[in-house]
Amino acid sequence: MLSENLQVVKTNIVKALEEAPRKDKNVTLVAVGKTYDADVMRQALTAGQRVFGENRVQEAAGKWPELVEEYSDIELHLIGPLQTNKVKQALELFDVFQTIDRLKLAKSLAKELEKTPKDIRCFIQVNTGNEPQKAGILPDEADDFIKTCREDLNLPIVGLMCIPPVDEEAGLHFAYLKKIADRNGLNELSMGMSGDYEAAIGFGATHVRVGSAIFGKREYA
Ligand SMILES: *Cc1c(COP(=O)(O)O)cnc(C)c1O
Repeated sequence: MLSENLQVVKTNIVKALEEAPRKDKNVTLVAVGKTYDADVMRQALTAGQRVFGENRVQEAAGKWPELVEEYSDIELHLIGPLQTNKVKQALELFDVFQTIDRLKLAKSLAKELEKTPKDIRCFIQVNTGNEPQKAGILPDEADDFIKTCREDLNLPIVGLMCIPPVDEEAGLHFAYLKKIADRNGLNELSMGMSGDYEAAIGFGATHVRVGSAIFGKREYA
């Protein structure tokens, strides 16, 4: 049952926070709804969930506008790659952009925001594993990129996001991301998914992106 799954995840978050060696006790649960339709999202809304993540603009555009009209306090996070030709559409839908991963995108977003201001928040995605196939700023380039986004482009950067390599100890990557955030004065850390959100909280996650632990296993078409 979705509402029970949600409750279990929330309880686990509270427990992980109690055990975590950190003073702040704030973690936002981003429920990742990709591949699940509007009816399933509605169940989560009924169960009280308001913060959701989607990784494709097209899919989000198909299911969220109607729900957002119904529930005015929904917060939508984009957690997947964003093409520059979809920036405008994404800005109509999303409140938080977690995957700022290259200069071209940052510039495009800044330009669009200048034309049509919107109160959004942004995370920079860092490719902590230096994986060639994976999106994200390389760790060595992160400091410069963060500076450019904030100072030259005036983007509302609040934190960093990462997706650790599947075959490595996630904790090393969570710790690494925190280190980069700390030295740049960024407070928010989006890290941890269904398999490792409790661990991520131990390393300072302020946002965990949890899909299958809430909605069940995904079937890809
Ligand atoms: C799908 C997805 C998640 C959620 O994954 P689960 O393992 O189902 O919790 C988190 N982050 C990103 C970027 C995703 O694409």
